[in-house]
Amino acid sequence: MSVPYRINAEKEKASEDLLVGSQGGLRASDKIPLIARGHVSDRAKKTLDIVERFVEEECIPADAIWSQQIGEGVQKRFSAHPPIMEDLKKRARELGLWNMFLPKNHFKEGAGFSNLEYGLMAEYLGRSLTASEATNCAAPDTGNMEVFAKYGTQAQKDRWLKPLLEGQIRSAFLMTEPDVASSDATNIGLTMRKDGDHWVLNGRKWWSSGAGDPRCQIYIVMGKSDPANASVYKQQSVILVPADTPGITIDRMLSVYGFDDAPHGHGHITFHDVRVPAANMVLGEGRGFEVIQGRLGPGRIHHAMRSIGAAEKALEYFLARINDPRKKPFGKQLHEHGIMLERVARSRIEIDTARLTVLNAALMIDSKDAKFALKEIAEAKVQVPAMALEVIDRAVQAFGGAGVSQDTPLANMWAHGRTMRIVDGPDEVHLLQLGRNENKRGKAMLEKLEWQKKRSEEMAAAYGMKKRDVLQLDRVHSDKKSKL
Ligand SMILES: Cc1cc2nc3c(=O)[nH]c(=O)nc-3n(C[C@H](O)[C@H](O)[C@H](O)COP(=O)(O)OP(=O)(O)OC[C@H]3O[C@@H](n4cnc5c(N)ncnc54)[C@H](O)[C@@H]3O)c2cc1C
Repeated sequence: MSVPYRINAEKEKASEDLLVGSQGGLRASDKIPLIARGHVSDRAKKTLDIVERFVEEECIPADAIWSQQIGEGVQKRFSAHPPIMEDLKKRARELGLWNMFLPKNHFKEGAGFSNLEYGLMAEYLGRSLTASEATNCAAPDTGNMEVFAKYGTQAQKDRWLKPLLEGQIRSAFLMTEPDVASSDATNIGLTMRKDGDHWVLNGRKWWSSGAGDPRCQIYIVMGKSDPANASVYKQQSVILVPADTPGITIDRMLSVYGFDDAPHGHGHITFHDVRVPAANMVLGEGRGFEVIQGRLGPGRIHHAMRSIGAAEKALEYFLARINDPRKKPFGKQLHEHGIMLERVARSRIEIDTARLTVLNAALMIDSKDAKFALKEIAEAKVQVPAMALEVIDRAVQAFGGAGVSQDTPLANMWAHGRTMRIVDGPDEVHLLQLGRNENKRGKAMLEKLEWQKKRSEEMAAAYGMKKRDVLQLDRVHSDKKSKL
């Protein structure tokens, strides 16, 4: 066997029917929504089935081992590199599951799939704690690799993109700051001062995901390089900062509802006179907004598809719990209480609907680029986390006390899902953008309705009629008899 955790071929064959066949004999490729199927190549369908088996048979069982191998205590947990992860990575490469996220029509460095095809795969990756990293498709590296591939110079690509694509190092994206409202990136204030052929950085960052991992070697940092520029969209730049540059301190790690997300975690970092070569600038001085906007489009779709996978997994837990013969409140199994079946049905409808929204956004990106798909991406970004939280919450409820404990992955899934309503722009920002754009039709709609009313009056006249409400009553109360 190539990796130590593999058991034996016979047992692995037997698991196929249980894990995949139990879903009515349908494989992942059979479950692709009909409207998307024509856009998925045979190679992608085959890979999707391999992803499904890899996740169900190898990654999900490995999740608990990985969590345990991280160990205990803050110093240990944030320097851990669980051995099972390297074994999973080796296995993923044997199966040809590596870097599937880089879309073929925009990059030559990836595995040659479209956003839609990868979206379908990401759904399965989202069911497991380990699957995304095992296939080198984990955030924030995915978005960061896109930045390097899209905007990096050859020297930057050789130095950072190559080892990232090989899964040898990890990276972090440092935009958010504790002292300003960072959902409005014009507020980002870490100072960048030019000094000869270097930039000197001073300020504080937080929610720097991935910075806790000792393998995290490169930070992509947004700062203010030209505060006096008349355009607020040209004051910021993005620069590459090696994580071991003198003057950087990771002060502490932030928790998510108490979960530390070790080993990668979320860092609170201070920059004190950090000197970086000018050649590390990405795309050019004052072009920070272009970089962050280019980075976020497909990344939001990845998050959304993984959230669909998390919702599917929660539904599986729900189904397992309501069919557990040991648990019979008031003399009946939970599935015999009608309200539970209604929740199953609602979950099915909501997951299937949300999936269509995400796949549609992925198709829009494939048809041109992320900018072209802004509306569809925002729709998915708002709809999917809300849906996933609702479905996970129903499963938590069905498990009773166990649902909020460490005995199921549901509590962790809910905490992670809740952050999706904040990261990459909070709900409100996307809703505002969607609402504003939709409302651009408002004046035209008012004019259209007035025009249709007038047209209707003209038509009535053509038939010799006076336009009158069909419910016109004209009942007048008086001492005399009613008119009617
Ligand atoms: C788990 C996790 C991981 C993260 N990873 C990273 C990372 O790797 N790199 C990074 O740079 N950042 C990261 N972030 C930070 C995240 O992107 C920010 O928290 C987010 O952009 C919001 O910025 P803020 O926290 O400064 O909130 P603020 O900008 O202060 O906003 C606070 C609240 O104000 C409301 N609000 C904002 N704008 C509007 C509006 N226009 N209309 C009405 N209400 C509004 C919303 O309710 C919003 O939640 C992460 C956050 C979390 C929780």
